[in-house]
Amino acid sequence: MNNYIKELVSKKTNQYPHQKQFLQTLEEVVESIGSYLDSIPNPEKYYPVLDSLLEPERVISFKVRWLDDQGQVRINRGWRVQFNGARGPYKGGLRFDPSVNEDILKFLGFEQTFKNALTGVALGGGKGGSDINPKELSRAELERFTLAFMIELKRYIGDKIDIPAGDIGVGAEQIGLMYGAYRKLGGEFSGVLTGKGLDFGGLDGRTQATGFGVVYILEAMLSHRQDSLEGKKVVISGSGNVSTHAAQKAVEKGAMVLTLSDRKGYIFKEPGFTLADIELIKAGKVARKPLSEINSKIEDSVYQEGKPWSIKADIALPCATQNEVDGADAKVLVENAISYVVEGANMPLTPEAIELINNGSIGYIPGKAANAGGVAMSGVEMNQNSQFIPYKFDEVDSQLQSIMQNIHELCVKYGAKDGVVDYAYGANVAGFVKVAESMLAQGL
Ligand code: NDP
Repeated sequence: MNNYIKELVSKKTNQYPHQKQFLQTLEEVVESIGSYLDSIPNPEKYYPVLDSLLEPERVISFKVRWLDDQGQVRINRGWRVQFNGARGPYKGGLRFDPSVNEDILKFLGFEQTFKNALTGVALGGGKGGSDINPKELSRAELERFTLAFMIELKRYIGDKIDIPAGDIGVGAEQIGLMYGAYRKLGGEFSGVLTGKGLDFGGLDGRTQATGFGVVYILEAMLSHRQDSLEGKKVVISGSGNVSTHAAQKAVEKGAMVLTLSDRKGYIFKEPGFTLADIELIKAGKVARKPLSEINSKIEDSVYQEGKPWSIKADIALPCATQNEVDGADAKVLVENAISYVVEGANMPLTPEAIELINNGSIGYIPGKAANAGGVAMSGVEMNQNSQFIPYKFDEVDSQLQSIMQNIHELCVKYGAKDGVVDYAYGANVAGFVKVAESMLAQGL
């Protein structure tokens, strides 16, 4: 690898030795960038921006102090990482999960910067959240928590500064409450959060966009390989926003979705879920039920503890969380002759898993390309909010399809070599060139 890049990675490793997930994504991305720089004349022009690109512009950390139903004061931590604003206002989700920390949010903010660039929408990258478990809160507690969270976050965001959205643990309910808190505190009705309810500025199609987009880019890859989704067996992890909408679109396209999972286990159904099954799972999860309980409502299905990767299929869509597919899981997928792996979640494959899966014969698309549909449609929601004219679902969905097609083309443009497309390399390099050129144009 390029020597300058090696030095940068070792600098970051010494600087942040405990931020394992940030370093994991950084190493994965800079490896591609290093190979790219080795292949172009005058790579030095990018060096100063590369150093700067690996460092977030701002890591904001704040105390969230709120009252629980027993009248006790509870303290959580909140963060907003404004990673890179060269291409537009910071944009990226908020995650509410006990595992949230600065490391995870830096990894997500870094990924988001590249992802947002791939969409072609003028958006910078950011991410935020809190180490709270929203599932343990009553509605009244959730309201008090989101108000306390927004009191702190409000001073750092704005419709032209930083526009957060949802992520794990932050769905329509949490976004609605945060938007209400923002509006009460600021006295203004601006599009400062995306993923809002349809009655107060939300975009018809944003909720579905990430999951649908995963299937649209999967279809583009299949078609590039003269293949199709019809009749394919698909295993999906997660049973939240991304996974259930990916499942829905895959079924609508004629595929057989065999699994959906949660933190404890998965539901398996052969020859695949119906659309009605998926709706039952969505509703059960909104009501905070585990899949072990929801399973009794699905006909001819089986509930198993653990991960779904041992189920034999043609396509795997990891749509739950980071590092959910480790080396051992990837080995099972390869032994079961998986043909395609498309990441709905952010960084769901460990480096060992990527090494096994991204082998040239399995079609593999990384999250920063595959799950970019959500943020792209957040960009459309921002547009809608500035115009005060609601867009129709069909127009939104067709914009999503065309953006996913463009992202596929960008990955092919930068990632195709000797008839094989390395989508991970293509996405990393295409994202890098866009962000780096914006930074260079604006001066060091
Ligand atoms: P949700 O909270 O709606 O769903 C997450 C799902 O993953 C749930 O079923 C949850 O299980 C499961 N899950 C969470 N953590 C773990 C874990 N440690 N082990 C196993 N399963 C787990 O989140 P989203 O669907 O919004 O997000 C999923 C992934 O997609 C994340 O990586 C997110 O960053 C990424 N993403 C989301 C976007 C969006 O628009 N929402 C956009 C782009 C990326 P349980 O039901 O038990 O909680």
